[in-house]
Amino acid sequence: MKHISRRNFNNLTAKGIGGAALFSSVPFACVMGANKDKKKLGIALVGLGSYSTYQLAPALQDTQHCYLAGIVTGTPEKEQIWAEKYGIPEKNIYNYQNFDDIANNEDIDVVYVVLPNSMHAEFSIRATEAGKHVICEKPMGISVAECTAIINACDKAGVKLGMGYRLHSEPYTQQVKEYVKEKTFGDILFVSADAAYRSTGNPDQWRLDRSLSGGGALMNMGVYAIQSAIYGTGENPISVAAQEFSTRPDYFKDTDETIAAQFEFPSGAVGNISTSHNFNANAMYVSGSSGWFRLQPANNYGPLSGETSRGDTIKFPHESQQKLQMDDFAKHVLFNEPNLAPGEMGKRDMMIVEAIYKSIANGGETIALDFEPGFGFGG
Ligand code: NAD
Repeated sequence: MKHISRRNFNNLTAKGIGGAALFSSVPFACVMGANKDKKKLGIALVGLGSYSTYQLAPALQDTQHCYLAGIVTGTPEKEQIWAEKYGIPEKNIYNYQNFDDIANNEDIDVVYVVLPNSMHAEFSIRATEAGKHVICEKPMGISVAECTAIINACDKAGVKLGMGYRLHSEPYTQQVKEYVKEKTFGDILFVSADAAYRSTGNPDQWRLDRSLSGGGALMNMGVYAIQSAIYGTGENPISVAAQEFSTRPDYFKDTDETIAAQFEFPSGAVGNISTSHNFNANAMYVSGSSGWFRLQPANNYGPLSGETSRGDTIKFPHESQQKLQMDDFAKHVLFNEPNLAPGEMGKRDMMIVEAIYKSIANGGETIALDFEPGFGFGG
């Protein structure tokens, strides 16, 4: 099969030879067509840090509709270790420089970007240019502009895009969405959501370096609190006001330590969120006109736990959230099942993140948000 490098692809598209004509004659079409007959999609993990090592790769040993087919790493020592541990053939191992050659590899259907936040956009877009479907870790990028660029690149290449928002695939979060949709506890009036952990580790880690992380607690854990506030009400907010708190400026030199924000929703419901790298918090509480429910914990790898004003507990058998999430995305690609965490969801959350930073920069000013109803909601 003819190899089209990233540079060649860019040249072709610059000359106006991209689009349908190009897709009909190169690996894009082959990969997309092949999906129909494939039993399991091959996933390549890009970035073999702690999340790939301890969550995604183990989960991919149990998935039904996808498997760990390849790796992309900047650390040569990891190549042999992963190859032996997971039986990955040498031809499916890439580094950041030769990554674009993945276009020629029919074993790889999906590229899963698990790198520091500032690298998500580059590698997601390079994956689309190689004709691969993309799963992008949270936060989707470090700006709304990056999120838009990823979505546009996926549209242009005709590939599917999913966010690494694992909670949408797990039963406790699905129960929350069901309560809200069915009005089990009446009209939702109030939501509170906290997502935080105490960071005391290496002060040189990338999460504390704005150039790599894009921000601090808000970018890292804050997106979970934003998500909880939205699926806890079933609505996108119409405004946000926010405050930042700093108690350890020597450690958090470059990134936000603690942020609180208040939302208004179109129905009149209101919400509070908090996120921090200075304290531990992991909960959501929703109050409706005829009762309440809560999850605590609400956003870790599980098992989660919950209760309601009826006096019952919310309880489901535990399964790997990552396994469920990757199988749901594979079913979206293979069988056109709903995309539970589409790219627009990641972009919407980044729009809210930017509004929160803007509010803080303006002394807590209320910032209006103007989403189309349901924008960014998954299937
Ligand atoms: P990590 O620090 O453990 O791993 C980062 C990986 O990126 C490492 O393999 C490192 O070698 C590589 N890397 C490449 N260039 C780098 C650079 N310039 N600086 C630092 N590392 C570099 O991080 P992680 O916890 O695996 O997080 C990776 C991504 O996954 C982040 O975007 C994070 O938000 C996301 N994540 C999501 C979840 C979730 O529950 N969905 C959980 C953890 C992490």
